[in-house]
Amino acid sequence: MVLADAKAGTRNEAGILAVLGVLKQALGERFQTGESFRAQHAHTTTYIPSQLPDGVVFAETSEDVRTVVKACAEHKVPVIPFGTGSSLEGQVNAPQGGISIDFSRMNRILEVNAEDLDCTVEPGVTREQLNTYLRDTGLFFPIDPGANASIGGMASTRASGTNAVRYGTMKDNVLSVTVVTANGEEIRTARRAKKSSAGYDLTRLFVGAEGTLGVLTSITLRLQGIPQKIAGGACAFADIKAACDAVIMTIQMGVPVARIELLDAVQMRACNRYSGLTYDEKPTLFLEFHGTDETVALQSAQFAEIAAECGGGEFLWTSNAEERNKLWKARHDAYWACRALAPELAALSTDVCVPISRLAECVAETQADIEAHGLLAPIVGHAGDGNFHVLVLFDETPEGIAMVEDFVTRLNARALAMDGTCTGEHGIGQGKMAFLEQELGGAVDLMRQIKDSLDPDAIFNPGKIFRRH
Ligand SMILES: Cc1cc2nc3c(=O)[nH]c(=O)nc-3n(C[C@H](O)[C@H](O)[C@H](O)COP(=O)(O)OP(=O)(O)OC[C@H]3O[C@@H](n4cnc5c(N)ncnc54)[C@H](O)[C@@H]3O)c2cc1C
Repeated sequence: MVLADAKAGTRNEAGILAVLGVLKQALGERFQTGESFRAQHAHTTTYIPSQLPDGVVFAETSEDVRTVVKACAEHKVPVIPFGTGSSLEGQVNAPQGGISIDFSRMNRILEVNAEDLDCTVEPGVTREQLNTYLRDTGLFFPIDPGANASIGGMASTRASGTNAVRYGTMKDNVLSVTVVTANGEEIRTARRAKKSSAGYDLTRLFVGAEGTLGVLTSITLRLQGIPQKIAGGACAFADIKAACDAVIMTIQMGVPVARIELLDAVQMRACNRYSGLTYDEKPTLFLEFHGTDETVALQSAQFAEIAAECGGGEFLWTSNAEERNKLWKARHDAYWACRALAPELAALSTDVCVPISRLAECVAETQADIEAHGLLAPIVGHAGDGNFHVLVLFDETPEGIAMVEDFVTRLNARALAMDGTCTGEHGIGQGKMAFLEQELGGAVDLMRQIKDSLDPDAIFNPGKIFRRH
């Protein structure tokens, strides 16, 4: 099903040829058409084959972006924005060819308004770059996908990460964007005010649009104060249901956790091996609390009680920065730790999200499914949001791919039956188009109408999110 959805689209050969000529002339070395450049900008982290663009523009200014969009609009050629290419559902593939816009050179931090707790950045700024820059201001940007993704890519996939349970996702942390639209003009969707009732919420329309409605050229973000005290630790449980029950109780009781992450026994084995840890290889929660000396101690004690009630082991917590960093580095390296379990196998990282009260049921049924089908597929997730990932390791043969597709279909059916979503944070791309239709039905037609109205010639990242009628 996924391979069928990702099939190559019709190429506009004459238009592409014309655009190649225009951009060569206009952009010089900022425009590259070599095979290796094109291949780097179409890799996918799935079994969907790479579909290469015809050229890559290393944009340095929004003027460069406008030049590309105007040329592509005139000749009806696809434009595929590219951040760091870490998206997981084939989002940067070019099924109809076209021009990839790489934002790695548009990586300036344009302004930091410390007194207003906001900043404006170019789309190629990465989350680690931003936090390094902010370090001396006492502020930080909390959204932290496992990859060192770009802010433009994160806004466009509506990304989140381990801190979302406390600070929200990109949807909550983008105040405004500037966008180059299909006519080559640049618009700004909002000012810096923390709230606004001014017209349609265009900011949220572009956040999560996966580059299908326009190209972001700057993003204004909310920032947070670095907490006075940070404490955290890990707690093991006898089985996955008990660990999920502890998450549910923690959230329902309103304990303001900053992070509460679930790792199943296989994931713990992978992390121990990869990151040199010595944890029990049982389902485990990694937690973090942000506040003052008193509040983090109180929250840690509250969680320890909940864990004990759910049959968990001792909750050992620390505010020692080095120990905490080791724990969270291991969590952020979870994907690579899984890959290292069986380097000869391919991997597919897939995510779903369910209402928090259904988390234990959804994860337990998924684990039973993994066991019943003899899959090697660690579960790890941002459990406090009801969001979890399965990293399926498989032989990249037709049988192996069919097995993964069947598993992903069952996983999504399970999440949707619980009134959940087919993706909490990875987005739709090419990989989840069929599940989006199942999830939202007629609402996808309204999305199509919005797309038709903003991008009548379908130049922006075609073949993603949904098929046009
Ligand atoms: C190891 C690993 C761990 C991960 N963990 C998480 C996680 O915890 N949470 C999470 O949410 N995701 C996670 N991801 C997925 C990925 O990091 C996110 O989807 C991220 O937001 C993608 O950012 P990027 O810069 O790589 O964007 P890309 O992959 O380059 O692009 C993603 C999409 O955004 C569009 N886009 C990029 N820049 C622009 C722009 N300027 N204007 C318009 N559209 C644009 C692209 O066209 C594409 O559709 C993980 C990925 C990996 C490999």
